Amino acid sequence: SEIIEIKDDPKIINIEKKPAVYVDVIRNEEIQIARMKLPILAEEQQIMETINENSIIIIAGETGSGKTTQVPQFLYEAGYALKKQIGVTEPRRVAAISMSKRVAEEMNLSTKEVSYLIRFEGNVTDDTKIKFMTDGVLLKEMQSDFLLMKYSVIILDEAHERSVYTDILIGFLSRIVPLRHKKGDPLKLIIMSATLRLTDFTDNKRLFKITPPVIKVDARQFPVTVHFNKRTNENYLKEAYSKTVKIHTKLPEGGILIFVTGQQEVNYLVRKLRRAFPLKHKDKMLEKEKEVKEEETKEEVDHFDENNKKKSIRKKKKVKIVPEINLDDYSLPNDTETISDDEEGLTSDEESDNIDDITVFQNAQPLWTLPLFSMLPSHKQQKVFQSPPNGCRLCIVSTNVAETSLTIPNVKYVVDCGKSKIKLYDKVTGLTSHVVHWTSKASADQRAGRAGRTGPGHCYRLYSSAVFNDVFQQFGTPEIQQKPVDDLYLQMKCMNIDKIVNFPFPTAPDLLQLKTAEQRLEVLGALKKGQVTLLGRAISKFPVLPRYGKMLALSHQQDLLPYTICLVAALSVQEVLLETPILATSPEDQKATRQKWSALRRQWAGTGNALLLGDNSVLLKAVGAAEYAHSQGKLQEFCDKNGLRHKAVREIRKLRLQLTSEIKKNLPEVDIFVDPRMEPPTDLQAKLLRQILLSGMGDQIAKKVSVEEVTEDEDKAKFKYAYKANNMEEPVFLHQNSVLKQKLPEFVIYQEIYETNKIYMRGVTAIEPDWLPIYVPGLCNLSEPLVEPPPYYNSKTGKVHCTMQGTLGSQAWPLP
Ligand code: ADP
Ligand code: MG
Repeated sequence: SEIIEIKDDPKIINIEKKPAVYVDVIRNEEIQIARMKLPILAEEQQIMETINENSIIIIAGETGSGKTTQVPQFLYEAGYALKKQIGVTEPRRVAAISMSKRVAEEMNLSTKEVSYLIRFEGNVTDDTKIKFMTDGVLLKEMQSDFLLMKYSVIILDEAHERSVYTDILIGFLSRIVPLRHKKGDPLKLIIMSATLRLTDFTDNKRLFKITPPVIKVDARQFPVTVHFNKRTNENYLKEAYSKTVKIHTKLPEGGILIFVTGQQEVNYLVRKLRRAFPLKHKDKMLEKEKEVKEEETKEEVDHFDENNKKKSIRKKKKVKIVPEINLDDYSLPNDTETISDDEEGLTSDEESDNIDDITVFQNAQPLWTLPLFSMLPSHKQQKVFQSPPNGCRLCIVSTNVAETSLTIPNVKYVVDCGKSKIKLYDKVTGLTSHVVHWTSKASADQRAGRAGRTGPGHCYRLYSSAVFNDVFQQFGTPEIQQKPVDDLYLQMKCMNIDKIVNFPFPTAPDLLQLKTAEQRLEVLGALKKGQVTLLGRAISKFPVLPRYGKMLALSHQQDLLPYTICLVAALSVQEVLLETPILATSPEDQKATRQKWSALRRQWAGTGNALLLGDNSVLLKAVGAAEYAHSQGKLQEFCDKNGLRHKAVREIRKLRLQLTSEIKKNLPEVDIFVDPRMEPPTDLQAKLLRQILLSGMGDQIAKKVSVEEVTEDEDKAKFKYAYKANNMEEPVFLHQNSVLKQKLPEFVIYQEIYETNKIYMRGVTAIEPDWLPIYVPGLCNLSEPLVEPPPYYNSKTGKVHCTMQGTLGSQAWPLP
């Protein structure tokens, strides 16, 4: 196929003017009135003229100015959807779904015409005119249609978020647009962004030789008064709670938006606030009614809330009831430093951290508290756009989803903990750790801005101005510099990008990152001397990480496919097995549940080769059993009882179905389906699955050593053995929760190493050293092999013919 060279942007000349077309849209009056208030409406003419006269334009405007909902409508009305589609990418699935629904509603079109497509689902049809999708979906589409021929215009939304896929898309589209122009079938590119760091796109000569015109949309932003705390309290959840209590009990009406870092924190704070400011009976009925209506339209019944309610009723007995609050309690010495001249004295006091000891403000105005995070089912997310019941104040507890992608109406107060959760990743060793760290100044300002959409607002920062000035970075690091780029590297190679270092990235990943990705892909056998192998092509067909793609590509033997699909689906989803119950009532309860789950998991692991399959054996059993529970309509119950994260299991189901149908599509002769009564693997199959896992994770191998050999660690009495992992100096350990903890095999592979108090391995499987030259020959050819190749290994050819009884062939599938 044609090699696409990455050269400088050819000058675009003679852009023809489009004839004026106008496609009628009939909108409801109410919607029309709301639209007219959006700042972007005033810019419609300028935007459309600039798009007609230029191939690439940038639209920058504050969140809430109407970019996402309105620009696709302008294009539709100007006829861009008459022959081809209008494509809009979003870095977040939440946004793709909710924006497609909103735009359909505003335009009085059906979801057949304004649709969305995300990794596991979508409602796109042949009649789709405007298609919202995640950026990853569009990149996958480019693999089979590089020039994106079915689109007349691509909008890359939220470009300032700098997600890996959006960055790559900008790079590709900077070259595709001129190619489409040359073809005489032009494609327009619109990059939309909040007003942040535009220079990465505009002052980047490698990306765009001609700087694209930038249209700035002046949002009608009201002044927001920023209040810093005098001191920075480590416990920001507690701080957020007491600040919210004070805002709600002391300040005039207006919605409250609280930023914390993760789903669990959101849930925790929501529960605490709901308990403190209960709804009146009437509001509860209203909520119930709404809920019932929503449930009826849903296929899968979500019992989560029901259980939540039961538990909170039980817990309520412990709540201390204070009939009247004394306002004087809140006029403590002021520790809120204001940079404005109004002093509300919203101070913090010593509030117990225990959720069970909450003061119930019986006489206070009820607070309509809603959670918002990306994993929340979308019908629950939509609730933030509805107005609260009469007499209630709106309060939303959110992760940084609400920072830029969703605009919540009527927020007057923002409470910002100043932090966000990121997954840190070591470029060489792959060591990961989740850290909650300070956001950037740019993010903090975005968060504050949420308070000034409908009138003057206030932002309460739960940290000091010194921290903000001295510790906060100006901008966050683009995601591409924080993640392994293996999948991207392979995908780009498969798209005939020969020299990836020359690719016009808005911000390039560093050379080390690219180098290690290339090495890992060579070890995997997906690349050979920098060229994509047949195996590499087969691997890239699957919408999973290359290492999992390889496992699938080897699984055509011995009826292993259903098991590998199951494992790959499970490995691709985060945090399937819970360690601690989220809703436990007491520390004793938590401990008991933990022990019960851990015993269950040891039992699930089985014996013989199944046990050696280790943590992955547990995963396989869990997913298989969950599928059965689902077929009986008891999935939620099953998950709660056995410590499985319900949403994770549902994602696994979708991915399992998707992988199964993908394979069927490519290889119709293969007879597979998702069987709710899947038998556990036989002992031989379990052994082969260990080999399959090795073939995908061969670079993530660890050998048992005694701790003394590695380090003079003070804990050596506690840990008799440790493991030495490839590329790692420090010893790594099997976690208490691993089912292989008792067995301590000589050689293991792991899914991930992560650091908490020590470095632990996650997802561990035992392997045999003599399998190494067969499944990871690349590794054994390195100058310092981990093991001596066994005698039957031909070091000249680097090949082993698999004649051993009960051993998997290393021949991959003949995937098209
Ligand atoms: P931007 O992309 O510039 O951040 P949007 O187009 O997302 O702005 O939002 C424009 C307006 O539409 C906002 O005021 C927002 O509150 C409103 N809006 C967006 N989605 C919905 C929805 N599902 N229901 C009601 N209003 C919405
Ligand atoms: Mg937007």
